[in-house]
Order: sequence, then structure tokens, then C-alpha cells
Amino acid sequence: MSPADDAGGSGVAVPDSGATAYDLADTCDLEHVEPGERYLGTVNGIVEYGVFVDLSDEVSGLVHSSNLRGSYEVGDELVVELDEVRENGDVAFAEVTVEEYTVERVEPASDDVADLGDLVGESVTLVGAVVQIKQTGGPTVFQVRDATGIAPCTAFAEAGVRAHPDVELDDVVRIEGRAETRDDAVQVEVDALTVLEGEQAETVREEQSAALDDLAAPHEVDPLVEWDGLEQMWDDLEAVATRLRRTVLEGRPIRMRHHADGDGICASVPLQTALERFVRETYEDPEAPRHLLKRLPSKAPYYEIEDVTRDLNFALEDRERHGQKLPLLLMLDNGSTEEDAPAYRNLAHYDIPVVVVDHHHPDPEAVEDLVDEHVNPYLHDEDYRITTGMLCVELARMIDPDIADEIRHVPAVAGLSDRSEADAMADYLELARAEGYDESELRDVGEALDYVTFWLRYDDGGQLVTDALNVDCDDGTRHRELVEFLADRAERDVERQLDVAMDHVEHERLDNGAHLYRIDVENHAHRFTYPAPGKTTGKIHDRKVAETGEPVITIGHGPDFAVLRSDGVRLDIPEMVEELKAEIEGGGVGGGGHLVVGSIKFVRGMRVSVIEALVDKMARAELDEELGSSTPVLED
Ligand code: MN
Repeated sequence: MSPADDAGGSGVAVPDSGATAYDLADTCDLEHVEPGERYLGTVNGIVEYGVFVDLSDEVSGLVHSSNLRGSYEVGDELVVELDEVRENGDVAFAEVTVEEYTVERVEPASDDVADLGDLVGESVTLVGAVVQIKQTGGPTVFQVRDATGIAPCTAFAEAGVRAHPDVELDDVVRIEGRAETRDDAVQVEVDALTVLEGEQAETVREEQSAALDDLAAPHEVDPLVEWDGLEQMWDDLEAVATRLRRTVLEGRPIRMRHHADGDGICASVPLQTALERFVRETYEDPEAPRHLLKRLPSKAPYYEIEDVTRDLNFALEDRERHGQKLPLLLMLDNGSTEEDAPAYRNLAHYDIPVVVVDHHHPDPEAVEDLVDEHVNPYLHDEDYRITTGMLCVELARMIDPDIADEIRHVPAVAGLSDRSEADAMADYLELARAEGYDESELRDVGEALDYVTFWLRYDDGGQLVTDALNVDCDDGTRHRELVEFLADRAERDVERQLDVAMDHVEHERLDNGAHLYRIDVENHAHRFTYPAPGKTTGKIHDRKVAETGEPVITIGHGPDFAVLRSDGVRLDIPEMVEELKAEIEGGGVGGGGHLVVGSIKFVRGMRVSVIEALVDKMARAELDEELGSSTPVLED
């Protein structure tokens, strides 16, 4: 190979001539020196019989007096070619006279991050982009990404002092150092770090970007069940899978926000697990998943300003303290509506992409300019029956196909939790049955998830939640016992709640023939305990539906909110909320949710007016021909 073949850089322009003199980078060794080619050397010593020249830190040799054309001082440059390499390893050069020549830089070939494990103890060269700069109490840690992975490169100035302070995030650097292991993980101890500029950096960026495109491509998987409704969303899902893989490869953290309910957990946990494994594949640093992936439940059925403010604060702190990039926000089972828009607008002040996978009734116009990807069955003339958990299980498989064996039961749990009436539910239940779950066990898993999530509040629940869902859980017995225990407790607490509430449920018959039940959950239910007002209302509603076998609407209200559930009545709650906002001045109305299940907020002093106006609208709604259709779950 001629040195020109792996010359990483652009030549320095010197007046045109045929001659080229190669300028070796410090770490180039004798392998980079070819007979008959010319090299720039620097005189480092003068002896009686000639001068010694350095071509690089690794290559030095003698130019014998008989091979010298001029006279030189230490530090002078001259052009030489290889004369001979003796058996003892000594190298001799001969001076070459060239009037004009072009200088071309020769960089040593770089190593791949993916090969570092085999190079421990050896000198290595990495070329790549800096994706994180973390100052520890000791060295500075640069996470450097090439086309094959991301490796920690440690550089030491003084304890706790930033090494190479000129290096910034996203700079393309060449690092020379030594591959070492520390705590069983491989890292590069940096000897030299150079920021590549201009064309040189651009070339590296382009090459690596093409390689990352290939790596970001999702795995090709077939849907778990045959379902046209789901399959028409396949391209959207692949776009999200690509985006998430690319985000990991680029070293950007991912912050997941999911609705704090069964479906939200069925959506986020498989995705988190698949992403964790992909992060592990990509990063040499075993701590990377902990720093890069966060899963956070959201109590509200939309992205609250409180949540976004915390997220933004954490993101900016992580950037400051850990030298991380700002995260991508992944909204799951949440995030499609107008109510989410203010939070997104807050994020838009910073470089934080937003991806939404949801099945709540969306306001596409309100969010389309604010989110980078939006997957929602309503955008394909489908509805909530395709739950977020069903969508995200497929996404998780596109990211890590090996996860399939651990999550076949998850879409069934998601569907039961959200009362999906999809035809595909039968197939999903069959898949779960093949894994050893009968329907009542799957319901228990959903109840158990609901129960732990309630008590976890703003915490993600970590292993407790993955054990309850039996994803990334290595102990099937513990999973079963945990679910049994939690589902029992949940049922007992529901009974306790209904014992005090049922006697205070008020009934009336609406003009359209539907039964309306009202319960004051503030005064006739235990507060600050499980089940919360939403679920309490839902359970009362279920009993009344079973009792009457006729169309039923149930309103559970507190002083400044109402939870709405309905069966057999064609409501459009998002639209009713819009109308109430306009009609009731000073009502402070807000809210939404699914078409027939949702929640409304208002100011305390206007409760009676708001609820009466709401009941008026409900009394005018059409009834379904058939009972028992479409009741998704939405609780808060
Ligand atoms: Mn859901």
C-alpha cells in the first residue's frame, strides 16, 4: 500500500510539481514508510558521520554524510527517502533534492471501537465524534463514536481538571492511546487528542453518517398477529424504530414519558428493555443504559407543564454536569392532543426532538408542527383498539428482535387493561395462552401494574414493574407470586372503596334513555389511596353496566374535576369539552381523553353549572344499537 492510500488529510498546497513529500503523523511507524517514496524529516541530532532525522515519534534514522546534499542544524527539515532497514532494526535514509513538492499528510489507519476488546494492552487510534464529555474527580472522559460503536476515552490533566478544554461535543477527533480494561470494561487511555477540522472532519462525518444509517435501520420482523389495522401503521413504526436506534447511535439520551397505567407500562417497558440492549451493544461503557435511558410515568393523560419543566431542568442539568447531549423525548400512550402542545412549545426552546406513539384521540393540527414523529391509529382511520402497548411491542422487536420471546403476552395485557375490543384480541390472547397465561392471569397482571404504579407515583418502579409484567425478569415464580399478591391487594382495596361509595351513587334516567349515575368521589370515597377517583368511578360504572345491561353513563366528580365513563352512548368528550369551554364563561373548563371516556377540570365555584351543562349534552347523545362496544380505559 502506498502511504497516499491511507492519507487521511488534505495536502498542504505548495506550488504545483510532480513531487510529493509525505509528512507522517506522530504515531505512524515504519509500516507507513515505503521504498522510493519521499518523506519530510526533521533533524534531531548531528554526528560526525551524518545527521539523525525523525519522520514521526516512531520512525527515526541516520542520513549518512555520503547521502547528505546540504548542511543542517537541529530542527531543520529535509526531504529523504528510505535507504535501508538493517537486520538490527536501524533505519538509514538518503536525502533527496526536490525543487518543488507537495506535502501530503499521512495519518495511521484508525481502529474500530468494536475491535477494542481484542486490542487491550495495545496502542490504538480512534477517529470519531465526541458524544459526551464528562469531568470526573480524576480524568476527563470523552465518549467517542465511530461507525462501529461508542467508547470511553479517558484523558488526564490534573485530578478533577478538564483535559483538552478546547474539545466540544460533536467535534470529530483523532485519539491515540492505549486500550485498557477497567472494571471489566474496555476504555482508551488517551495519549494524544487532535480535533480534526474542515474537509478532514467533514469526510469522517460523511463516512460515519452513512455507516450509522445502515446500523440505524430497524430489524425486519413480521407482526405478531395478522391484522390489517396494525399493518397499515408499519411504515410509521419503522420510522420511529429507525429514529430511536439512530438516537442511541448518536449518543443522545432518550427520556420516555408514559401514561401511568397498564397500557402505558406495556408500551414503555418492552421498549425500554429493547433500547437498553441496543445501548449495551453500542456502548463499551456498561453504565451507559443508566445514563441514557429514563422512563417516567405521567399521572395526567397529557404532558403537564409540571412534567415538562422537570424534564427540561433534568436535561439541562445532565448536559451541564455530565456533558450529555439534550435528550429525545418519547411520549407513550400520551402526547397526541392540544393539551400537550404548551409543553412541547416549552421544549422547542431547546434541541429536544419529540416522538409520540399514542392511541388517544389526537388533535393532529395542534401537535404536528411540534413533534418529529407521531404514530396514532386515529391518523389511519383506526381507533383506540390498537393500544399503545400493541404498537410498542412491535417497535421493541424492530429494535431488538430477540426480545420477542419475553413479550408475547404483553399485547394481551395492554388490550385487557384498556378494554380493547379489537378482533385481534383473540389472537393476542392465544399468543399469551401459548406462553402459559390464561385470561384471568393477564387481567391480574394489568391490575397489579395499575396498583404498583399508583403507589410509585412519579417513580418508574424499575425491577418491581418489570417483574410484575414479566419482561426482563429471570424468575417466573417471583413474577407469579408478586402478581397474585398485588392483584389481591388491589381487589381488596377496590372492594373497600365500593363498600363506602355504592350507597351514595345517585341515579337518574336521561331523555335519551341512558342511565346516568353520579358519585361524589371527594366525599364518598377514601381519598389519597387506591383506587383513585378515576378507577373508583370506573369500577362503579362497570357494576352498573352489568346490573342494568343498558346504556350507562357514570360521572365521578370532585370539587374541581369530573371523571366520565360511558357504555352504549355515542359521546364525543373532546368535543363536549370544547363546547363547554366556549359556553361557560368563568368555568375554567379543560380536559379531554378518548371519545367516550375522559375527564374534565373546572373551577370549584362553577362545578354545578359545568356538570349540568355536561349532563344536558349527554342527554342528547345518540345511543349505540348494540351495547358493550368501545369502552377504552382512561384513568387519572
Ligand atoms: Mn392506552
